[in-house]
Amino acid sequence: MRKVLIAILFLSSWFYCSAQIRVKSNTFVSKLHSPGNGTYAITIGHTIYLNCDANEFFIDTPWMIHEFNHVRQWERFGTMGFISRYIFFSILKGYKKNPFELQLKQKYK
Ligand SMILES: [Zn+2]
Repeated sequence: MRKVLIAILFLSSWFYCSAQIRVKSNTFVSKLHSPGNGTYAITIGHTIYLNCDANEFFIDTPWMIHEFNHVRQWERFGTMGFISRYIFFSILKGYKKNPFELQLKQKYK
């Protein structure tokens, strides 16, 4: 049941995005931003920058949904709107309690 729900959420995320999403492997920007070991991504607009190979990303459906929904957040708030809010909440509450991250974590658990 959970896998079906994840698949439905994934597909709805996919069709919701109005522009093509690009996924880039082993990028400098994500390695620079990476907090430690492990896989990590940073979404900027419609591009998802990975610190690993894209194959690792595409087999991890919850991670894909998470990053696709960051794309939706960028679309909803616009570039300056998203960046300013994300940085504001990161400074105020930290990464783990940032509402943009909490919203996605609560949605897919
Ligand atoms: Zn996130």
